[in-house]
Amino acid sequence: MSEIALHYLKDGGEMGEHTRSLDWSKTSMGAIARWPKNLLLTLSTLLRSRSPMFLWWGPNLIQFYNDAYLPSFGKEGKHPAALGQHGENCWPEIWPVIKPLIDQVMAGGEAVWMEDQLIPIYRNNQLEDVYWTFGYSSVLNESGHPAGVLVICNETTEKVKALKALAKAQAEAEQQRDRLKQFFMQAPAGICILHGAELVFELVNPLYQQLFPGRELLGKALLEAVPEVKGQPIQQVLAKVYTTGNTFEGKELLIPLARTADGPVEDRYFNFIYQARRDHMGAVDGILVFVIEVTDLVNDRHEMEKTQDTLKAAVTSAQLGTFDLDITAGQLKWNDRCRRLFGVSDQQEVTYEGSFLAGLHPQDRPRVEAHIAEVFDKSVNNGHYDIEFRTIGFEDQRLRWIRAIGQAYFDHEDQPIRFVGSALDITEQKENELRKNDFIGMVSHELKTPLTSLKAYVQVLNHKAQKGEDSFEKNALAKADLQIKKMGDLINGFLNISRLESGKLTLNRQNFDLDELLTDIIDDINITMDTHEIRFTPWPPVTVYADKDKIGSVLTNLLNNAIKYSLKGKVIHVTCEMLENGPQVSVRDEGLGIKPQDIAYIFDRYFRVEGKHMAHISGFGIGLYLSAEIIKQHQGKIWVESELGKGSTFYFSLPIFA
Ligand code: ADP
Repeated sequence: MSEIALHYLKDGGEMGEHTRSLDWSKTSMGAIARWPKNLLLTLSTLLRSRSPMFLWWGPNLIQFYNDAYLPSFGKEGKHPAALGQHGENCWPEIWPVIKPLIDQVMAGGEAVWMEDQLIPIYRNNQLEDVYWTFGYSSVLNESGHPAGVLVICNETTEKVKALKALAKAQAEAEQQRDRLKQFFMQAPAGICILHGAELVFELVNPLYQQLFPGRELLGKALLEAVPEVKGQPIQQVLAKVYTTGNTFEGKELLIPLARTADGPVEDRYFNFIYQARRDHMGAVDGILVFVIEVTDLVNDRHEMEKTQDTLKAAVTSAQLGTFDLDITAGQLKWNDRCRRLFGVSDQQEVTYEGSFLAGLHPQDRPRVEAHIAEVFDKSVNNGHYDIEFRTIGFEDQRLRWIRAIGQAYFDHEDQPIRFVGSALDITEQKENELRKNDFIGMVSHELKTPLTSLKAYVQVLNHKAQKGEDSFEKNALAKADLQIKKMGDLINGFLNISRLESGKLTLNRQNFDLDELLTDIIDDINITMDTHEIRFTPWPPVTVYADKDKIGSVLTNLLNNAIKYSLKGKVIHVTCEMLENGPQVSVRDEGLGIKPQDIAYIFDRYFRVEGKHMAHISGFGIGLYLSAEIIKQHQGKIWVESELGKGSTFYFSLPIFA
C-alpha cells in the first residue's frame, strides 16, 4: 500500500520530493500510506501540474502545493515551512479574507472565482501588495463530501501593475491634452489646425475665430469657409507647406479678406506661422496655423509715415528751420535752414548757449531766456513755446526776425527732457510791419501838433462862450471840445501802438495816487457826458509807482468802453482798492456783455466783437490791446468777467512793488 501511495506522489519536481520525504507520521495527517485515495489522486494531479496549485486538506486545512506555486511565496517566504502547515498558521495576514471563502467551499457551497484580487501577503520580508486570479473548488472524499479546497491560482501582480501604469499614463496624457487644449483656447494668438490636403478646419481657437466673426469654420475646407483666399499667393504658400513639410513664417503680409461672410474684402495684415503637422508615421497630415492680425498697427504706421512725409515736404517747402534740443544729453540739432537763420553755413556742432543764445540780438536775449524758462516749467503753459525774436548772423552779421514755435516734453517728474520746434524767417514781414508802424507813428505825430493847437483855441473859445449868453455857442464849443478830446485819444492810441510794435513804448514811472488819478479821469468824463452815471465806492488812498499817463489811458479806455457798450441811463460801477497782492481797479457796466467765445480774443490787436450793435459804435479794436500791453509792461494783470446781455466787469491789478 505504501508503495502504491508513493506512486501517486512520484515526480512533481522539488515539491514532489519534499512531499514524499516529509515525515508525515509525526503530523496529524499520519503516514502517507494511510492517506485516502482521493487525496492521493488530487496530489498526483497537483504535483505534476505546471499551473500554480495549492491544497488545503481536512479539518485542519493542512497545506500542499506544487513547484509552479513556489514563486508566489517570494524569497525567504513561508516555503518550505508551509508544506503540511495548518492554513491558519501559515496565512495569518489574509486569514480573515480567505477563511470565509474556504468555509463556503468546504460547506459544499459554490466554487469561488476571483480575478485580479488584491491579497497582500508577507513575503520578501515585507507585506506586499499581491494580486491574484484564483479559483477555490472542493475536493471530495470517498463519501462524496468536501474534504479539501483546491486552489488553482495565478499571480497577476505584474499584469495589474502594468494595467495601472497604463491607466495612469492615460490619465496623464488626458490631463496634458486638457492643458494643451486650454493653452490653445486661451493663447494670445489665433491658432487653427487645417487637416488634410483639403485643409479642413479641424480645430479653431477663439482668437482665430475672431478674425472671421460669425463665419462657420469648423469642419469646413478653407476655400469653402474663406473663399476669397482662392487664387491668392497665400493659397500656394499653404500648399507648399503641406507638400514639403517646411515651416513658413510671414510678417505683415497683406491678405485681402472680408471679416464676415458677406462683408467687404479689406486689406488686412497678418503675422503668421504655418507649420506642418505630422501623423505618427511622420507624414504631413495637416497644417498648424498661428496668426496675429496687425492691420491696425500697419495702418497706423503707414499713416504716420505719410504724415512724416507731408511734414518733411512742408518743412522743405515752407523753408522751416527746425530745432531739437535733447535737454538731458545737452545736445542741440539744427537743420540747414535753422543754421541759416543764425547765419551759420557749416555743419559744425551747435550748442544751446554757444549758438542759440549767443546768436540772439542782445536786446531780445533776456526776453527769450525768460520765455524759455516758462516753457520749461510745465505748470505755466504745458511746455508751449511761441515767440518772435531777432538774431544777428554769426557769419554775415545780418539782422533777421524769427518766429519760433515749439514744444517742450517732460518726464514723469515734470522735468523738461526735450524741446523741439520750428523757426521761420519773418524779417520781411516784420520790416513791412515796422515800416507801417513808423508810418502810423509819423502820421499820428504829425496830426497831434495841429490838434494840440486846435484844442487850445477851442478851449479858449469855450471858456469865453461859457460866460456869454449864447447857448448854441456854449453847446457847440463844448461838443467840439469833446470831439477833439476823442480824436486826441485816438491819435494817442495809434501812436502808442506804433511805439509798442517797434519796441519804443517805454514806461516813465513816478509815484502817484491811483485813486486821485481815477477821480480826476471820472470827473473829466462827467463834465462832457450825461448819458450814464458813474458810481464809485469811496476808496482809501492807493499810491503806486507807475507810468501815470499810460495807466491813465488804460482807465480812460475802460471807462469809455463801459459807456460805449451800454445803453443810455445805465450805471457804471468803479472800485479801486488795495488788496493783499497790490492795487486792483474794476470797472463794471450793465451793458451788452461779451460772449464766452469772444472773451479769449478781447485783448487782441484789432479785435472787435461782431454783431448788430457794433455797426453803430465806432472803434478800431486797439484800446484793450494797448491797455493789456501797458498793464503787462507793469508786470500787472488785466482780465474780464462778463455775461452776455447783463454786463461786463474789467479788472486790472498791479504788483505791490511795480
Ligand atoms: P474798440 O472799442 O475800439 O472796438 P477795444 O479794444 O477797446 O476796441 O475793445 C475791443 C472790443 O471788445 C470792442 O470792439 C467790443 O466788441 C468789446 N468790448 C470792449 N469793452 C466792452 C464792454 N465794456 N462791454 C462789451 N464789449 C466790450
